[in-house]
Amino acid sequence: MNKKRTSLNRRSLFLLWVLALALFIGLTHRGMTLAQPMLYQGNLLFESWRFRHANTIKSENTIIYYTSSQKNEAKLIAKEAEHVLRFFSKRYDFKPHRTLPIFLFPDRSSMADHFATTKSHKANGIYTSGAVYLLNPAAWNNNFPSAIDQPKEWGKLFHEEGPLTHEITHYYLDWTTAGNYPLWYTEAFAQWVEYTQLGFELISPTEPLPTESLYTYDQLNNQFDELPNQALAYRQSFLFLRWMIHKYGEPHNQQLQDRLAKGTPFATAWQKTYGESPKQSYRKWLHQFDL
Ligand SMILES: [Zn+2]
Repeated sequence: MNKKRTSLNRRSLFLLWVLALALFIGLTHRGMTLAQPMLYQGNLLFESWRFRHANTIKSENTIIYYTSSQKNEAKLIAKEAEHVLRFFSKRYDFKPHRTLPIFLFPDRSSMADHFATTKSHKANGIYTSGAVYLLNPAAWNNNFPSAIDQPKEWGKLFHEEGPLTHEITHYYLDWTTAGNYPLWYTEAFAQWVEYTQLGFELISPTEPLPTESLYTYDQLNNQFDELPNQALAYRQSFLFLRWMIHKYGEPHNQQLQDRLAKGTPFATAWQKTYGESPKQSYRKWLHQFDL
């Protein structure tokens, strides 16, 4: 009896220990990295079911899901995706060893129907859970020529203005850090890569910053996607990060991301990299506008 009770107790203790360990692993970065491929795989399974009537094209590192009206666009998008992934492989040694799924929508309403969020109603590209979603470029830019008659011109314009570099930057950061960053940072970094690789600025730089109504660091950090002026939130994040990179150099930015990849919380990683909190850096950035 006693023996049984002891063994039962031991078993309960063992189970408790396993439970605590699982909880601990679940809360640590290691747990996040273990969970991330499952999240990506789960999303892919779900989405490939939702796109079960779509056609697919496979390239070396991508699989494109498309409706038959977008066959030529799909081929050109696969080519561009390989080009962008090659850049990340060379520049950041990014080799995820997985196929990147890219889902194409022929028009805005089909993309809006797919996502429940209102933000997606305006987006031309979305990255989430290891997958990229793209709206047919003809739906957001009338200048796109026919992908059948003028594939070269189409490909050039898509390279220059398409959201693939931006979305694949989100993918790179998510994969390497297991999502260990605030939203403002991944949006700032995606704009930085676009800016350096394409000379493209998401929000037109011609208009001066409305310095009287800039968002605070806490607003950007805590409620980025709820801020009413999204264009301003994106622009501020980008200009702040660009200012930091110009001031300290890209190696520091890389150090920050290496720390994020090890699971260091964002504010701590920033503090260790720059010797000040992100809020202090942000205050210094504001200072140039006499704020
Ligand atoms: Zn983005």
